[in-house]
Amino acid sequence: MFQNRSRFRSIAATLIQRIVWLAGGCLLVMLVLQGWLTFRETQLRMDHALAEIADNSLPMLSVSLWDIEPEVVQRQVNWLASLPEIGRVRVLASTGQTFEAGALAMDLRGEPLRTLEIPAPQGVKPVGRLELWVEPGYQAEQVLHDTLGIVAGYVLFTVLLCLLVGWMLRRDLQRPMQQIARFAAELKPQELSRPLLLERPPRDHQDEIDLVTQGFAQLQSDLRSHIANLDQMVAERTQQLERLIEEVHRLSITDALTGCYNRRVIEERLPAEIERSRRYARPLSVIFVDIDHFKTINDGLGHAAGDSVLRDVGALLLGQLRTPVDWVARYGGEEFLIVLPESDLDHASRAANRLREMIEAQPVHVEGRLVPMTASFGVAQCGPDEGVADLLARADAMLYHAKTEGRNRVSVSG
Ligand code: GH3
Ligand code: MG
Ligand code: MG
Repeated sequence: MFQNRSRFRSIAATLIQRIVWLAGGCLLVMLVLQGWLTFRETQLRMDHALAEIADNSLPMLSVSLWDIEPEVVQRQVNWLASLPEIGRVRVLASTGQTFEAGALAMDLRGEPLRTLEIPAPQGVKPVGRLELWVEPGYQAEQVLHDTLGIVAGYVLFTVLLCLLVGWMLRRDLQRPMQQIARFAAELKPQELSRPLLLERPPRDHQDEIDLVTQGFAQLQSDLRSHIANLDQMVAERTQQLERLIEEVHRLSITDALTGCYNRRVIEERLPAEIERSRRYARPLSVIFVDIDHFKTINDGLGHAAGDSVLRDVGALLLGQLRTPVDWVARYGGEEFLIVLPESDLDHASRAANRLREMIEAQPVHVEGRLVPMTASFGVAQCGPDEGVADLLARADAMLYHAKTEGRNRVSVSG
């Protein structure tokens, strides 16, 4: 049988693996997209925060600088530097004073992120300048934080979804498919009526697995009727064969012309009959019948007429016997042997006489003519230790005796 040698792997496992790969791919795409979006959002948020800081802090700084309150200005600078978005703050007063706070180690050579003129309270001319540097790494941290949060949620969701899908695939696909595979592997021709039963949760619809189940039921039913047809065909053929064998056997033991048994039956059956009569101490007799002057019919009316006479005499003998106990066989030519089990000499000689009278009284129709017919009979009963040959020899001697005595008579072996 053909066997696929590649290793087995369930559909559910393959599907789950594919889902995991797809989810991984989606995760990567999402990571990039989400990172970019968060980066943009953080940038906007920071711009907004800086604008707000500038709007809220500038009036206070303006007043403090105007009133020349260095402690208040420094406090405000410190507060601004403590904001998470801000790395370093510097206020350059028009008086030449500088107020600084935050990461002083930051490189000041580059341009500050935002520079704002601090107007005088009356709005004449600026009283100083506010310089703000963004906290280094703030944006990256924000992007990382936001992206990781969303990605962690996505991963958790994907894992849960995979577990759920895996459980459903196992329940709805893998288990029924395994049951179908087991059923198909164990299905035997003599168990075709066993239905394919699947353990599946109740549904209000049909699906492909139901179609497979129905297909199996149909296939089993078709196979069953096919086998039944085959059985019926085999039974019919067997019957025909038996009839033919019976017919062949009947032909093999029947004389084609007269319908009596043939010589072979005498050879096979007579010894068994003698043996049986001896074992049960029952009488058995035989009668030789020979048509008188048959040669003259053949010579005078033709061979076909002779055949017709033989057929008539055969039919007469068959019709008068106690079948199936008594039986008659064509011994050869126009000579018949009648075997009478359970009959003693007296009974057999009476039967012979009856037959002789009937043949004599019943002329044979030959080509529209009635031809008178007689026959001679030799009767013998089987002796206690007598064999087939001796018994037939004695009956034949009696027949010869009847012929020599003038024919149309019965001679009984006394
Ligand atoms: P008898 O009274 O002494 O018995 O004389 P018969 O003429 O009957 O006996 P005989 O033995 O002289 O002749 C028998 C004839 O039967 C000879 C043979 O040609 C004929 N015969 C043998 N078998 C058949 C057969 O099958 N068909 C026909 N038509 N004739 C047969
Ligand atoms: Mg004869
Ligand atoms: Mg003869």
